[in-house]
Amino acid sequence: MQKTSAMNQIHVIGAGLAGLSAALSLTAAGRTVIVHEAGPAAGGRCRSYFDKELGLRIDNGNHLMLSGNSAAKAYIKEIEAEDAFQQMDSAAFPFMDIQSGERWTVRPNKGRIPWWIFRADRRVPGTRLSDYLGMARIIRFRDETPVGDAMRRGKLYWRLVEPLAVAALNTPTQEGLARLLGAVMRETLMRGGAACIPMLPKQGLSEALIDPAIAMLRSRGAEIRFNSRIAELTCNDGRATALRGPDGPIPLQDGDSVVLAVPPWVASDLLPGLVVPDAFEAILNIHFRYEADPSGPLGEAGFIGLTSATAEWVFIKHGHVSVTISAANNMVDDQARAIAALVWPNVVDALGLPAGLKTEMPPYRVVKEKRATFAATARQDVRRPEPATNFATNLALAGDWTDTGLPATIEGAIRSGRTAADVLLKL
Ligand SMILES: Cc1cc2nc3c(=O)[nH]c(=O)nc-3n(C[C@H](O)[C@H](O)[C@H](O)COP(=O)(O)OP(=O)(O)OC[C@H]3O[C@@H](n4cnc5c(N)ncnc54)[C@H](O)[C@@H]3O)c2cc1C
Repeated sequence: MQKTSAMNQIHVIGAGLAGLSAALSLTAAGRTVIVHEAGPAAGGRCRSYFDKELGLRIDNGNHLMLSGNSAAKAYIKEIEAEDAFQQMDSAAFPFMDIQSGERWTVRPNKGRIPWWIFRADRRVPGTRLSDYLGMARIIRFRDETPVGDAMRRGKLYWRLVEPLAVAALNTPTQEGLARLLGAVMRETLMRGGAACIPMLPKQGLSEALIDPAIAMLRSRGAEIRFNSRIAELTCNDGRATALRGPDGPIPLQDGDSVVLAVPPWVASDLLPGLVVPDAFEAILNIHFRYEADPSGPLGEAGFIGLTSATAEWVFIKHGHVSVTISAANNMVDDQARAIAALVWPNVVDALGLPAGLKTEMPPYRVVKEKRATFAATARQDVRRPEPATNFATNLALAGDWTDTGLPATIEGAIRSGRTAADVLLKL
């Protein structure tokens, strides 16, 4: 077989975070990379755009990363985008129960020894020390136990674990796997507050995570082709031998290889027979054009978690307030106006605004991501493939849906791209 050289091309299909991180690893190793992206811009499920109706640049959905997301941090460093993120000194998660009006802030201390759980002013009101020991046991699950059965369903569960689990797994807790939540907790909460500092973009997701990656890839000589949907991938004798793009066939030479970093339903279309997750959960984001006072009750965090409410997380953004509802399959087909009308009163309460504003809903945009992530259930988790497959030795899979051991997250997507690149670099 011809030896892989710098002249050989690696085709990365898909310019979401998985494809971009694969391309970064490959260009860093001196490889010639061509990225094919079906859409007019990169970012996939993590991107910003100008919404004409609102007259604002918005993100497709609010994304929260934590400082313990080591692959995401390394990616941000590599694309030199550290300044694109808000700098917070410590971990603070404000919450409000909409029904009772109670507010609290969970403040894990920096170090690994969790002395914060001994201090009533830093932990969830109404919780006992033993509840936290029960929560810590979640990291031990390796079986099919859902989050809802993994600990006692007391105040700590409803006021911290359930909201975090729904956000991290994008799956209702009666089905969402405890082992996937445990994998997230092991790298964040269980490492102490220093690993739980929220990382939020100063502007949008694209400015922080996508545009700088494209610029870095171009500076390393990578070619990025937009509006370049790959409609066919031919494999012969255990090798990928050709792609078909909008301008026709793209034959692959000996030594060329492919990273397939598309969503799972596209991957199984291109590789018939590939087993991939096939059940998904929606995420709703409701963006209201409203300039919130940054010194209001959300304080430095700029976001708040809500319990006993339709809205789950409320974020203050430039010129708008943005609400996330995860695991939203049961609401995704509702009319946008009905969804916004349910959520706006929650925003008024969360921001501590006069109750009279509840009937004065500002202009809004409801963004429905119907297949936001695969459902993090036992049935779906076993359908996640390894990056290397039997289809072709010169092909590696990447995407948050591959077998990363994490739920579908930015961290998982970035890691999957790195792993796929490693597979090809070893050829
Ligand atoms: C609303 C929402 C909120 C989220 N919130 C969070 C959060 O708070 N924290 C977190 O960590 N994660 C969050 N996530 C998950 C995170 O966005 C994803 O895990 C991550 O973006 C997935 O990246 P990816 O590269 O695997 O897939 P994608 O982003 O789907 O990338 C795949 C790319 O392939 C392209 N493509 C498809 N078909 C073809 C083809 N035939 N040829 C060429 N290109 C093709 C697509 O256009 C796309 O750009 C959220 C997701 C959504 C939707």
